[in-house]
Amino acid sequence: MSWFKRDHAANDKPPKPEDSERRVRTEGLWQKCEGCRQIIWKKDLEANWQVCPKCGWHGRLDAVARLKLLLDGDCEQFDAGLRSSDPLEFVDSKPYRERLRAMSQATNLEDAVIAAEGKLDGHRVQICAMDPRFIGGSMGSVVGEKIARSIERAMERSTPLIVVSASGGARMQEGAISLMQMAKISAALMRLDEVRLPYISVLTDPTTGGVTASYAMLGDLNIAEPGALIGFAGPRVIEQTIRQKLPEGFQRSEFLLKHGMLDAVVPRMELKAYISRSLKFFMG
Ligand SMILES: [Zn+2]
Repeated sequence: MSWFKRDHAANDKPPKPEDSERRVRTEGLWQKCEGCRQIIWKKDLEANWQVCPKCGWHGRLDAVARLKLLLDGDCEQFDAGLRSSDPLEFVDSKPYRERLRAMSQATNLEDAVIAAEGKLDGHRVQICAMDPRFIGGSMGSVVGEKIARSIERAMERSTPLIVVSASGGARMQEGAISLMQMAKISAALMRLDEVRLPYISVLTDPTTGGVTASYAMLGDLNIAEPGALIGFAGPRVIEQTIRQKLPEGFQRSEFLLKHGMLDAVVPRMELKAYISRSLKFFMG
């Protein structure tokens, strides 16, 4: 797999937009940070792995960039050609098949996860990186199958497993079949546990629904990026059910860490070193 080049010369920065003409020309080059509300040059964000250089806010990272961040060099991809067969022939605002085709064109991926084997700081690992752009990073049969096969590969090759989640949960276009992936992956993780190979779950913004309710929370180590939304149901549904106002910061990484639901909150720039240290500990 060849990586795209994200380096750029520091001096090819366009001038800040001043007049309307210039604003038109530079449209799409700037992005407002959701943390500090400052306008950031998009390429600066990209070069900084979507972390705001001014306030440290963590934006969403696509799967290819995620693998580039964590792995030492190129990696071997598996099951890249797996596609959903649309068993329910589902149609919402448009047919599921069409949605898949459009998503595939927009993201250059066949589904919402990349499964690969590579080296992380010298440790050989199986790694699955979810892509939040692909139908909200939702988990359907393809995501389930790719992760389950990665677990099996980890057992065959005696390597640790890392799954980086970024998902809105089960994919409604595949109905109950997407829910079955939760059981399938959880059962495979139990077998991984029995052969005493480590599984590190990295939860990024957002990790919700059936993904949180299965593999994202089943790691030997569950670590999250700062400020990530992590939960099962959304806050509105919970408030309506329990008829209570939810506390400040509810369902964010820091809140979950404080309440014992996570092992650590690790900034994106320290993630690789943190996982490497953990693997050294687990693998003796
Ligand atoms: Zn910021």
